[in-house]
Amino acid sequence: MSKQRILIKYGGNAMISPQLQQEIAAQIFKLQETGNEVVMVHGGGPFINKALEKAAIKSQFVDGLRVTEAIAFAEIQKALIGEVNADLISTLNQNNIKAVGLSGKDGGMVQAKKYQHQAADGSQVDLGLVGDITHIDDSLINLLCGSGYVPVVACVADGTDGTSYNINADTFAGKLAAAIHADQLIVLTDVDGLFLRFPDPESIIHELDEAAVKEHMGTTIQGGMIPKIQSCVLALNAGVRKAIILNGTKPAQISEYVIENKKIGTTLTL
Ligand code: ADP
Ligand code: MG
Repeated sequence: MSKQRILIKYGGNAMISPQLQQEIAAQIFKLQETGNEVVMVHGGGPFINKALEKAAIKSQFVDGLRVTEAIAFAEIQKALIGEVNADLISTLNQNNIKAVGLSGKDGGMVQAKKYQHQAADGSQVDLGLVGDITHIDDSLINLLCGSGYVPVVACVADGTDGTSYNINADTFAGKLAAAIHADQLIVLTDVDGLFLRFPDPESIIHELDEAAVKEHMGTTIQGGMIPKIQSCVLALNAGVRKAIILNGTKPAQISEYVIENKKIGTTLTL
């Protein structure tokens, strides 16, 4: 296998157990050892929910996206950067990975503006400080990857006016994968892939093309699956060669897929 640049999106729901985090770290080590570059983008759903609960702020989602009031944003940023990112870096470093914790803000890497959400019925929904990525500068990632570091990126970014935004981690991952010319996008979540009849794992859809995505959107594809599938399609359209959804609670799936080419997960194609 030639050298690949692999962007892994690590979902909040698949990162709650420290044991799982260790296993994911071991997988990343393996990918690097076999000559690949790895970039990680992470969310932090459960950690954010806990932080918001503690601050007595309600968690609310629209089409899989978190409604983000200003007071919520402060808590989200603390949880993502101060807790999830910092702990991930410790775990990765402990596994002999030179992990560098970043957010989209660092080096002005990711720029965003306020995201205007359109519901399925066409109406506009105000999601607060949810960001829409307008520009990505790939130089910091190239610098780090080129020197053997693994950038671990929290999904927040600034607008040109200095407003900070929370960006859905799947969306962030898809756009970053495109901008850094990743060869592969792997979205890790807490289920084996997209199920035709959720939650029946036997009904997993192993391959889904763009036309099928349109067909299943809003019916089969719901909630947190919406931004994952959309991000995979976006990345593919931007030149990323492979995009797949795998189960992050089964970390071995990463090398089964990348190294052993096993038929697992939900692969998106154009
Ligand atoms: P993450 O933290 O990985 O982003 P999310 O909760 O946002 O996790 O998204 C994954 C979730 O999407 C699954 O746990 C499941 O509840 C939900 N989901 C919705 N529709 C489907 C489907 N058709 N197949 C599988 N999961 C689905
Ligand atoms: Mg999610």
